[in-house]
Amino acid sequence: MNFERALCWIRRDLRLSDHRALFEACQMAKGVALVFVFDTTILEKLKDRDDRRVNFIYQSIKELDQNLKDLGSGLITLYGDPRIEIPRLARQMEMDVVVCNRDYEPISKERDETVEATLRTMDIPFKTFKDQVIFEGRELNNQKRQAYRVFTPYKNAWMKKIDKEFFLEYTPDYKKLIPIKEIKPFLKPLSLKKIGFKPSSLWFSAGEVSAELQLSRFLNQIDHYKKNRDIPSKEVTSELSVYLRFGLLSIRQLIRQIIELKTEGAQAWLTELIWREFYQMVLDRFPHVAHSTFKPEYNSIEWSGTEQMFKAWCRGQTGYPLVDAAMRNFNATGRMHNRLRMITASFLVKDLLVDWRKGEAYFARYLLDFDLAANNGGWQWCASTGCDAQPWFRIFNPVNQSKRFDPQGKFIRKVIPELAGFSDQDIHFPASTNQETQKKADCLIGRDYPHPTVDHNLQRSLVLELFKK
Ligand SMILES: Cc1cc2nc3c(=O)[nH]c(=O)nc-3n(C[C@H](O)[C@H](O)[C@H](O)COP(=O)(O)OP(=O)(O)OC[C@H]3O[C@@H](n4cnc5c(N)ncnc54)[C@H](O)[C@@H]3O)c2cc1C
Repeated sequence: MNFERALCWIRRDLRLSDHRALFEACQMAKGVALVFVFDTTILEKLKDRDDRRVNFIYQSIKELDQNLKDLGSGLITLYGDPRIEIPRLARQMEMDVVVCNRDYEPISKERDETVEATLRTMDIPFKTFKDQVIFEGRELNNQKRQAYRVFTPYKNAWMKKIDKEFFLEYTPDYKKLIPIKEIKPFLKPLSLKKIGFKPSSLWFSAGEVSAELQLSRFLNQIDHYKKNRDIPSKEVTSELSVYLRFGLLSIRQLIRQIIELKTEGAQAWLTELIWREFYQMVLDRFPHVAHSTFKPEYNSIEWSGTEQMFKAWCRGQTGYPLVDAAMRNFNATGRMHNRLRMITASFLVKDLLVDWRKGEAYFARYLLDFDLAANNGGWQWCASTGCDAQPWFRIFNPVNQSKRFDPQGKFIRKVIPELAGFSDQDIHFPASTNQETQKKADCLIGRDYPHPTVDHNLQRSLVLELFKK
């Protein structure tokens, strides 16, 4: 196809390398311009003006703009509703085609349908491409030609189908970028302030360069991944989720780099990347999960947890140290280790009997790597309401989990220094110690650290009753 000018709309793919839509745009048109829209339909819903994700996106966009300038072009940034802004820009710039990479969230699909319909009235084609995943929802089916509902057969099918053609590198022909002088009237730099936000501190750097650095750091230690990935204090996981979420790295690049590595570490990590695809597939093919349980029979559970309990969980004041350390650290940084996500989610649902959707929404509000598919999948897994979820009768014991995954209480001590005086044995549940031990540890339960909000064994029997009903 030969077009004069293509507009490449970037969304959750904030990079220039190995970029499918940009590659295709450069193939099909003589000149290509890139645009990013600060979407007011999303931004207006955010409650915190110093939102970390907005900061992360803003900084990544700034770097991308500079990279484009180095190539002689620039990034057009707009602020508004993309359903209006994209067609308007396409018309103003006399574009012949608009291209982008596909997004599988229900709201994004609706948005793209609206944009496509508006562009159609203007005779401008809208072309979308697969980029965010190796296999899209409909590319892997079971023998009955239905979507998988269980992870292991999905993974087996994924492994069977994977082939070089699915992780090709798409290097755009940057010579096709429209020179800056031609797009200058449309380059209106937006500051954080202009879009209504304030700077916030990020615990790691934004941008494509930082993503590459983080990837190479991780690949150097990937061999330790399998053994230590569940121990939060070891910090051996890749910390790439935020870069993957905003597309600062291409999933194909990751697969190219590890698919041939047969080490246990690399294989275990590949499995996690397949979990990511599994939940993307679930959201694409079962969009009802975004607002209700995957298994309809669990939609009617009447969760009896109180608002007070929910608040204690949010603030890290439950009296269960590993849960509290995870939540306090999360509130301070926007990050949480996978094992801790599982422990805190399970605690909220199965110990405090609070509806999993409240926890899901709290994570969605503060997680730097928030991704609807993975967050919803993770919560439904922990709440036993989802696809291939943890069976409802298997309930994490928060104290045993703490002993197993933070054996010397390293993570707890780092986040809750008032508990540091307890022994490796007592730190997991200091409420069970006597006054003398507490005095020695210089931490009185009820004064320096909260009493446990609930009794795990009692709550366990209550939640089992709830599920049985
Ligand atoms: C309740 C709950 C909520 C979660 N919410 C999110 C979320 O909003 N965004 C998010 O990216 N992940 C989420 N996860 C999955 C997982 O916790 C994070 O992806 C992981 O902790 C990110 O750290 P990492 O990059 O060091 O992971 P690594 O262990 O290095 O894994 C590599 C990559 O694989 C993917 N991945 C790993 N585990 C999972 C998983 N269980 N499900 C889906 N993808 C996975 C991520 O993209 C991750 O970056 C959630 C898990 C649970 C239990």
